Amino acid sequence: MRVELITIGTELLMGFVLNTHAAYLGKKLTGIGASLVRQVCVNDTGDEIRTALESALAEADVVITTGGLGPTSDDITRDLVIQMLQLKTHKDLKALENIEARFRRRSLELPEIVKSQAIVPDAARVLYNEHGTAPGLAIPLSSVAVLVDRGIGSSKTPRCKWLIMLPGPPRELKPMFEEQVLPLLEKEFQGNLPVIDCRVFKVVGMGESSVADRIEPVLKGIEGLEIGYCARIGEVDVRLVLIGKEQSLVQAKADDAEEKVRRVLDQFIYAKGDFSLEEVVVNLLCEKQKCVVTAESCTGGYLANRITMISGSSKVFKEGWVTYSNEAKVKMLGVPGHLIIEHGAVSEPVAKSMAETALEKSGADYALAITGIAGPTGGTEEKPVGTVFIGLASRKGTTVEKFRYPMDRETFKFVTSQTALNLLRKDLLSL
Ligand code: ATP
Ligand code: MG
Repeated sequence: MRVELITIGTELLMGFVLNTHAAYLGKKLTGIGASLVRQVCVNDTGDEIRTALESALAEADVVITTGGLGPTSDDITRDLVIQMLQLKTHKDLKALENIEARFRRRSLELPEIVKSQAIVPDAARVLYNEHGTAPGLAIPLSSVAVLVDRGIGSSKTPRCKWLIMLPGPPRELKPMFEEQVLPLLEKEFQGNLPVIDCRVFKVVGMGESSVADRIEPVLKGIEGLEIGYCARIGEVDVRLVLIGKEQSLVQAKADDAEEKVRRVLDQFIYAKGDFSLEEVVVNLLCEKQKCVVTAESCTGGYLANRITMISGSSKVFKEGWVTYSNEAKVKMLGVPGHLIIEHGAVSEPVAKSMAETALEKSGADYALAITGIAGPTGGTEEKPVGTVFIGLASRKGTTVEKFRYPMDRETFKFVTSQTALNLLRKDLLSL
């Protein structure tokens, strides 16, 4: 099933609002075996919407539009479609009641213009909106002749069977799509949807090309396997996609591919699916019943912040120190002052001392310590910008590793905290 998406809104093209619908809808459609083959973003003017619709209706099985269903003068999608396809309309009483109820609940007077949202094509299935006033519409275009009559796709046979119109706000669009549109598409295209098996592996501690070097040779023989990479800051996603007709065959091939990828990437894979590294680390700490503390200099609490963003972290995160200055390292953690004088604050002995004193003071199972030079100033020849020492202390002893991340400050903080989390993860896995 070929699906085309038309996102409508001048604010999207001018950069005031980030167009998130394509990513959301693309993922959901892939989940049922439908293919989003093209996405077009157009402004609110009638000509642009009309041109995009003409092309999409001629070439896709399902066309989805988003936005422009509201009552304001820039919301013209519904009227334009009604006019283009010469559809008869009526007032939908349930949609009207929904609009009136929303205004009543807020004790607001209902302007006449808002009621116009309840005018719907006779042929449409109305998608009721529980989170807003504008109903969505699913219009069956089963009669191809209707489209040809209207001059749409007259050079080819138009293929569109359903035109789905959704409201712009994500909080209205998402529940409507999941609860009403997906079931409709699954029912209407039953038997014609292929089986799609899509598995995503999150990899940390290895660059994109090294990941490819390891996995491509072992996956070579798997027919029809599509491999995708997404290099993010501090991690890489590996995506394995298999499409076929028979569920058991597709799954067997996907299992084979997964087994091979796991064999060559092993512990570099920190998760399967959409998880963050901090989520995985907090879960591992819970599972192994261990707790961690942090002692941070250049990351200024970024690591502690990432850990505490995860629900349930209070069970495994005891406390964190932000010792940005030399005095704070001495006063709050008890790092011996002579270590700083002899080796500098950014050094292996200071990172080791920060980790060990934090462990001792807190009585935790693990302490992670970070000291480095985020830049852009402050670097020296011996310790250039981006130099960072990460210490991990536990009851087994302390390890300190040196890294170099010459990047902007935000990226530096993220990548450094990513490496620290990964050091802890690897230790937890060895328990
Ligand atoms: P409303 O009744 O709220 O006017 P509408 O169906 O007319 O809804 P628009 O006016 O086009 O939709 O968009 C409303 C808001 O929805 C936008 O200001 C924007 O915040 C959000 N929105 C629209 N399209 C997108 C998109 N593609 N991605 C993310 N957000 C979007
Ligand atoms: Mg609007």
